[in-house]
Amino acid sequence: MTVRVRFAPSPTGSLHIGSVRTTLYNYLFARQSKGTLILRIEDTDQERFVPEALDSIYDGLGWVGITWDEGPREGGPHGPYVQSERLSLYQERARALVSQGDAYPCFCSKERLASVRTQQQTRGEVTRYDRNCRTIEPARAAARAASEPHVIRLKVPEDGTIALDDLVYGHVEWPLRAIEDQVLLKSDGFPTYQLAVVVDDHRMRISHVFRGEDWLPSTPKHLLVYRAFGWEAPPHAHLPNVLGPDGKKLSKRHGATRVEEFRAQGYLPEALLNYLALIGWSPGTEEEVFDVARMIELWRIEQVHKAGGKWDRERLDHFNGLHIRALGPDALFERLAAFAPAHWDRALLRRTVPLVQERLRTLAEFPDLVSFLFDDAGVKPAAAQLVPKKREAAETVEALAQAAVVTRFADWSAAALEGGLRGAADELGWKAGDLFMALRLAVTGKTVTPPIIDSILLLGRERALARIERAQEALQEGPPSIR
Ligand code: GLU
Repeated sequence: MTVRVRFAPSPTGSLHIGSVRTTLYNYLFARQSKGTLILRIEDTDQERFVPEALDSIYDGLGWVGITWDEGPREGGPHGPYVQSERLSLYQERARALVSQGDAYPCFCSKERLASVRTQQQTRGEVTRYDRNCRTIEPARAAARAASEPHVIRLKVPEDGTIALDDLVYGHVEWPLRAIEDQVLLKSDGFPTYQLAVVVDDHRMRISHVFRGEDWLPSTPKHLLVYRAFGWEAPPHAHLPNVLGPDGKKLSKRHGATRVEEFRAQGYLPEALLNYLALIGWSPGTEEEVFDVARMIELWRIEQVHKAGGKWDRERLDHFNGLHIRALGPDALFERLAAFAPAHWDRALLRRTVPLVQERLRTLAEFPDLVSFLFDDAGVKPAAAQLVPKKREAAETVEALAQAAVVTRFADWSAAALEGGLRGAADELGWKAGDLFMALRLAVTGKTVTPPIIDSILLLGRERALARIERAQEALQEGPPSIR
């Protein structure tokens, strides 16, 4: 069988991380089966349409590196790939169902529908269309339809069940009694989602429908439409939601949800995909760090879980760190440079890469870690910060003086600096850690930096000495409480 899968976002906002996960699974499946991936834009709900959404889909998926074969901008043999450009097709299909007696025009006004609903509510019944127009004689209905506004509804059989063997959820069955005569075509000529999705999946020869679990309750309606057309429904898989820490579907309340936010926050697309893939899927082995090629090899729909997967920011950070460490220095430099101000010297910046690679969780942390190399004025540790616990300001001035002596050693190497500083700490009766911290603050203005010896080597002797001196002055001028 030729695999043809699709992702079918509604352009209602910027690309959500949950949609990326659904798209990723379709992508992995398409690529491992040497099949085709299709992007279809489902914009039948014109009220929720956001014009920028299409760009956001293209940008976001482009950034993570998901590619597809047919779509609105790519074209393809089954276009157009935007539902609002396919209206005549849906209209024609809806009319065909009317002619064959499986659908009917409904002329009920909004007011009538509302009053039916209120009556059902007061009787404590399930609210649904009372099938008032279903019994209008077809010729008479056709005559009225020529001039009166109407919708087209599906004639849902009164009894029986409809079932799906979902690739994730297993066997699911729905009694038809519970399903109303759904609208297929609205009075403005737009299809409802229920009609459009079936017509398109059929027309576009979709072999498997993989989509979010939110769509499972609508599936019996889709299956009924397939049945009415006499089409075979492709296998379906409903994918578990990406959940927030509170177990509810991941949304803005939980923090970042949009792809562009993760990009701005310094996540690597490969780390994001790796982590996302594991929300809802496990390969059944200990292996968990994957590149896309490996995921294409391993991923199986049978290994997708039913239960929603929790989004865990710390775990994402962990994966991001792993992928940062897996990059070669030049590749990492390229990514990091994008996060650093344009006026920072690129050659010096390149030399910082080996110093930060082991400690970065996100690319966005980078400028802060190395800013001391580029921004002299920004380095101004407070006097109180420089003095280690249980030490005095005067002692700290002396300790920094010893550090300055070491910094003047002829042997400008990591070994000499390290040995010299440890020796100085011994002589002072200081813990080496205290001396390193005071020096770190003096030279970088921060408590968290790349390794201090390497930082001093990169900064250069003169600049390091000037900063040590400045820290000593700050201590001598500091408030009496610390002097
Ligand atoms: N347009 C639907 C959505 O945005 C897609 C449903 C489907 O894939 O069938 O979630």
